[in-house]
Amino acid sequence: MQTAHGGHIGEVAMKRILREYFWWPRMSSDVECFVRKCETCLQLAKKNPPVPLCSRELPEGPWQILQIDFLSVPGFGSGEFLVVVDTYSRYISVVEMKLMDAENTNAALCEVFQRWGCPLILQSDNGPPFQGAPFIKFWEDKGVKVRKSVPLSPQSNGAVERQNQGITKALAASKIEETNWRRALQLYVYNHNNLVPHSRLLVTPFELMCGWKFRGHFPCLWENTCKRLDRADVREKDAESKLISKSDADSARGAKHSDIKIGDTVLLAQARKSKTDPLFSQDHFKVVARDGPKVVVISRNGIQYARNIQDVKKVDATAGADESPAGENVSTSAAPSSDAEGRVKNTGNDDTSSGSDAAVDHQPCRNKGLRRREIIKKPSRYDLIRFEIGRKLAKIWA
Ligand SMILES: [Zn+2]
Repeated sequence: MQTAHGGHIGEVAMKRILREYFWWPRMSSDVECFVRKCETCLQLAKKNPPVPLCSRELPEGPWQILQIDFLSVPGFGSGEFLVVVDTYSRYISVVEMKLMDAENTNAALCEVFQRWGCPLILQSDNGPPFQGAPFIKFWEDKGVKVRKSVPLSPQSNGAVERQNQGITKALAASKIEETNWRRALQLYVYNHNNLVPHSRLLVTPFELMCGWKFRGHFPCLWENTCKRLDRADVREKDAESKLISKSDADSARGAKHSDIKIGDTVLLAQARKSKTDPLFSQDHFKVVARDGPKVVVISRNGIQYARNIQDVKKVDATAGADESPAGENVSTSAAPSSDAEGRVKNTGNDDTSSGSDAAVDHQPCRNKGLRRREIIKKPSRYDLIRFEIGRKLAKIWA
């Protein structure tokens, strides 16, 4: 197998090379195992496909969970805007920022909260100043939880990212039409919040906030058309439409479930300077937490990193058992022990009939669905083995 993997040939080509001369039971999974254990290939591997989106359930009510983000649109005032989106109603607030430090951000948010009060949770990306102590402490002292979204995964702060497109477009339009951009931005926010019904929920953000329609025009006609907002119906519609858009998005992104779990040893994606630089680091990390696409790992030195699952590559558990990071106190005992059990079970099932030592060394990859031994037959073209080495191998595996 080493010879067939010369030049780090991929597993499909390796199988093709080997099948020219050899056959042995579970050859295909042996080759896959062999390649998976090659650390060089692992570092040069492609990124994992994304995991299916986990669509967040709608919060219980309006103004409970807000997403915040900075939007940079150079050429319009300071060019920096703080965008606040209520994840329940999609009600937005936009504040032009002079400086994006914690002090100014806190002041801007306080201004927004004067109208609707404090939310329960502030959710942001990991950019400064949202991760800094002055920001977190300021809000936690007020009883507002600060939650971070997953780094390198714009989808997790999706509500605010989507709004940014509309805001940028409104600003760009005012530039083309040579109108006052501040007024254009105000008009966009006003229309979005008060007049534009949500495409799937069919109610405006204002209505979701207050429970009644915004009286923008013809207030005298309003009483007659007033219907009570059915919040249970809104939740149902939201869940349904999210399910549809989730499955569409998942298939478009080629999303796949990942089996990465607590206790796994992994490599992390790193920035590359050139195409020949490996995509994944050499260092091993241990997975200590997993929540959907978010993976938290710990280094040998005990430093924790949060990563999107696409940027984490699993190291074959059987490859470097002695190389796992030293932080034993961190890895929960459940996962590694079940790991070991899994391997023991596999060995017992598959190798009872073959008494040879070589077979014990050769543990098949656990996640590969193996055919049962008794129904594995070698292809008839191997009845006459032409090569001496082939005969020896055949004896070992007979
Ligand atoms: Zn390799």
